Amino acid sequence: MSDIIQLLPDHVANQIAAGEVVQRPASVVKELLENAIDAGSDSIKLIIKDAGKTLVQVIDNGKGMSTTDARLSFERHATSKIKTAEDLFQLNTKGFRGEALASIAAIAHVELKTKQENDDVGNAIIIEGSNVVSQDVVVTPKGTSVSVKNLFFNIPARRNFLKSNVVELRHVIDEFHRVALAHPDISFALYNNGNEAFNLPISNYRQRIVNIFGNKTNEKLVPVEEDTEVLKISGFVGKPEFAKKSRGEQYFFVNNRFIKSAYLNHAISSAFDGLLKTGTHASYFLNLTVNPLTIDINIHPTKTEIKFDDEHTLYALLRSAVKHSLGQFNIAPVLDFDR
Ligand code: ADP
Ligand code: MG
Repeated sequence: MSDIIQLLPDHVANQIAAGEVVQRPASVVKELLENAIDAGSDSIKLIIKDAGKTLVQVIDNGKGMSTTDARLSFERHATSKIKTAEDLFQLNTKGFRGEALASIAAIAHVELKTKQENDDVGNAIIIEGSNVVSQDVVVTPKGTSVSVKNLFFNIPARRNFLKSNVVELRHVIDEFHRVALAHPDISFALYNNGNEAFNLPISNYRQRIVNIFGNKTNEKLVPVEEDTEVLKISGFVGKPEFAKKSRGEQYFFVNNRFIKSAYLNHAISSAFDGLLKTGTHASYFLNLTVNPLTIDINIHPTKTEIKFDDEHTLYALLRSAVKHSLGQFNIAPVLDFDR
């Protein structure tokens, strides 16, 4: 008899986990922005170079980390956000898996600077491919800055798999939009290769949409509001005459988290039935608030899929709320001679 099973060393386990969490620069953007939000920041800056391939940096003004936590934050399954399995069903943070920083540090050069409000100095940590290169005391403002350089430097296959800068930048901006739309109460800026691409002040939801998609968007938005025991809906749908051939501006947020749901998307398109020209898609920006006990977010590491206890009820409520809004604002069918 001979034993052949071994426990994988941490850096190998981290690299495997990274394969699930980090697909491209935009995944790093998502994780770092979410951490900044969870830290209670009200001002968040995203700096990228070469579409994030050489640098993704997020600077926040949140609560920062202690010396010990700064080091621990890079350990796998190290999180301040949940303590028990029950906490998974009453999440009020974006993160909870404690995997993002460990995964990112396994496949990039990471520099963290962080300081808590009442401390005079903060901490700077450099980690490359899971190896701590240095940890020093540093003078830095309150909050946290995480720089992620040379993504996939130690996994050439993944690095080569990245798309052109144009495509990767598109993904980064999509991610930035999703996070910024979910949090109009936080100011966000995006700098791309040294140029300011977005500067979004704290505002209401309508203004945030307009600041992102342009002034012309304002007249296109029809408010949707509904408040029932199981579901609160708040947001906007685009007037049918502005519907586009592409599916671009379609956003669902459930409890402030961007999610993808073909099923709920169908609820919207069925509410628009007869109002859209063939081949066009309605835009929508809808926030759904549900009891956290009735959803499960822990389906996929990227947390963009969600399991609802009662999908059918949500579908019906959503469809009727949107229909009601379109009716109330006298939205008439678009004359469509192609039908
Ligand atoms: P998770 O977000 O799932 O907890 P992460 O690996 O993303 O896991 O982060 C690990 C921990 O590091 C967090 O739980 C949090 O305590 C701390 N942390 C990460 N980013 C920040 C930040 N920007 N500000 C303050 N604390 C942070
Ligand atoms: Mg996180």
